[in-house]
Amino acid sequence: SEERSLNFLEEIVEEDLAAGKNNGRVLTRFPPEPNGYLHIGHAKSICLNFGLAQRYGGQTNLRFDDTNPSKEETEYVDSIKEDVKWLGFNWANEFYASDYFDNLYEFAVGLIKKGLAYVDDSTAEEIASQKGTPTEPGTPNQYRSRSVEENLQLFAEMKDGKYPDGAKVLRAKIDLASPNMLMRDPLMYRIKHTHHHRTGDKWCIYPMYDFAHGESDAIEEITHSVCTLEFVSHRELYNWFIEKLDIFPSKQYEFARLNLNYTVMSKRKLLQLVEEKQVEGWDDPRMPTISGLRRRGYTPASIREFCERIGVAKRENMIDVSLLEFCIREDLNKTAWRRMAVLDPIKMVITNYPEGQTEMLFSENNPEVEGGEGGRELPFSNELWIEREDFMEEPPKKFFRLGVGLMVRLKSAYIVKCESFVKDADGHVTEIHCTYIPESKSQNDTSGIHVKGTIHWVSVPHAKTAEVRLYDRLFKVEDPSNEDGDFKDYINPNSLQVLNNVYIEPDLANAIPGKGYQFMRKGYFTVDKNPAADKLVFNRTVTLKDGWVK
Ligand code: ATP
Ligand code: MG
Ligand code: MG
Repeated sequence: SEERSLNFLEEIVEEDLAAGKNNGRVLTRFPPEPNGYLHIGHAKSICLNFGLAQRYGGQTNLRFDDTNPSKEETEYVDSIKEDVKWLGFNWANEFYASDYFDNLYEFAVGLIKKGLAYVDDSTAEEIASQKGTPTEPGTPNQYRSRSVEENLQLFAEMKDGKYPDGAKVLRAKIDLASPNMLMRDPLMYRIKHTHHHRTGDKWCIYPMYDFAHGESDAIEEITHSVCTLEFVSHRELYNWFIEKLDIFPSKQYEFARLNLNYTVMSKRKLLQLVEEKQVEGWDDPRMPTISGLRRRGYTPASIREFCERIGVAKRENMIDVSLLEFCIREDLNKTAWRRMAVLDPIKMVITNYPEGQTEMLFSENNPEVEGGEGGRELPFSNELWIEREDFMEEPPKKFFRLGVGLMVRLKSAYIVKCESFVKDADGHVTEIHCTYIPESKSQNDTSGIHVKGTIHWVSVPHAKTAEVRLYDRLFKVEDPSNEDGDFKDYINPNSLQVLNNVYIEPDLANAIPGKGYQFMRKGYFTVDKNPAADKLVFNRTVTLKDGWVK
């Protein structure tokens, strides 16, 4: 891709390399919590972490941040791996924070021995009230002065299951007057008698994020630990634990998370949409998930390009989803094969073309590529399906399509002239009658006639049928999480339109899953990954032009 200036993380890595830090080694990690499917925001983090390492000859670990036992499931682990691979990245190692539970326990014991951690019997409310406020220091309680021996014994008993959930916690003994509230004796461990997806029932105490994350980074000797801005205030604690434990000095850096308009990105909210059946599942093509975008017809290259274009910032902002749509349009314009499909059909009869005759016309696959990437034979006959909107009973001036007396070119075929139309008893137009100009055949046109409009068509006796799904934005407002009431009140009721009576050219019956097709004049489409056995279903990835009216 094009040359651009370095982002601030690349600058940091280059400075570190120039200073000879980490023996020239760059090791990043992508640390998803397996409590949901990955979304486009995660794609940004993936592109950033893997991209940074790739650029400097380094590597990236995939680390499942699975320290919170109740919410994690193997289904999520599998989907995350599939999505990272699909985006085009290979991790050096697949690790699980839960693999480090023994190390973390030993680290905690080490801090207790140094007098830097203590067991606290207070309730969550008591702990919160003793923490003080940003302007007033907290107050130490009676547990803070427990002896090392007592703390060691109590912590071992916590681990052995002697106490119920919430009875005790392990806290770091730092500074109850720190201006950083996170430094006021933060929790390191809580009791949770809950089954874990990997460690089973081995543990009933689980480490807090702040005690697990940096320590996992250090165990893996991660050089640059990149996270989102919410963690700026956690950095002091991240460094404190590493310093007191005297372990590998991983460094944390923060960037602005991706916010995209007309959607939500918190996994909790996405899960609600799935559980309440507002969408078909995590991979519903309207979801901002990687699996949803894939099913919708987005390509890995278009998502990587999007992440590259939004760049890496240190301040939060909202990205317009039309940039994502722009990226997939650019990609598909270059790669999608052109095909014809009539979404809202009306019949055209060519009265001077021999009935029962079939003519095969050639049409190239991709005019954007030299040689057209080959092509296919299009059957032509005296009865065609065309779009209803390409005919008007009383066409206004400058309507360069069909109305009585008007002419258009049929793509890759002939010029036709509309002579008349047929109406049913209710006054609906049911058929359009045309004559064709035999000398106007595409690529061999000697008619001398010039027309302004070209329309697509499908031969009636050769057409196949398909279901087509058109998608619009899932939400009616730019930032549904920031509106009054529930975010689900702002769901767009018209985000899915299903067309059941679509005629497609016969070659589309062989459409390749995962490949993009341009339905001429109608947008980019892909075969749905999950159609009912006897039915061909196409999802519209994106329209040809940005048709969104704000
Ligand atoms: P959620 O709030 O939706 O649960 P999370 O941040 O807790 O998201 P994780 O699975 O912990 O989700 O995220 C894995 C990595 O992806 C983290 O490093 C996180 O910072 C990053 N990430 C998550 N969401 C975004 C986003 N919108 N933009 C950029 N990075 C993100
Ligand atoms: Mg989360
Ligand atoms: Mg997280």
